[in-house]
Amino acid sequence: MKISKGILEMIYEQAEAEAPLEACGYLAGKEDVITSHYKMTNVDKSETHFSLDPKEQFQVAKSVRADGSDLIAVYHSHPASPARPSEEDIRLAHDSSIIYVIVSLENEKRTCGAFTIKNGMVTPEPLDIV
Ligand SMILES: [Zn+2]
Repeated sequence: MKISKGILEMIYEQAEAEAPLEACGYLAGKEDVITSHYKMTNVDKSETHFSLDPKEQFQVAKSVRADGSDLIAVYHSHPASPARPSEEDIRLAHDSSIIYVIVSLENEKRTCGAFTIKNGMVTPEPLDIV
């Protein structure tokens, strides 16, 4: 998957603005290139997990379709833990076709990772920052 520095920067900025709560959103594009970023509300308002707002999910799905793009990834932040899926992330991952992007702010350092999760198995996904 390819993501521009600019979009990644916006995700980190959102994560920093919403910390210590987790931030989340969707990434859409064509094939494996991310072209749009949709900031979403973490309705859990939690420091350790997130849930998307179903109304926002519906709106985003609609505009992604209208754009002729596909939903490629769902992202969320880990304000104080590493950029890899938590046990809960793995347990709640029901969509094996979507890429899970996690940005971490642990120790005030920005790091990120991308993964697919299928039947409790986590596979790292290459993430090219272009
Ligand atoms: Zn997580």
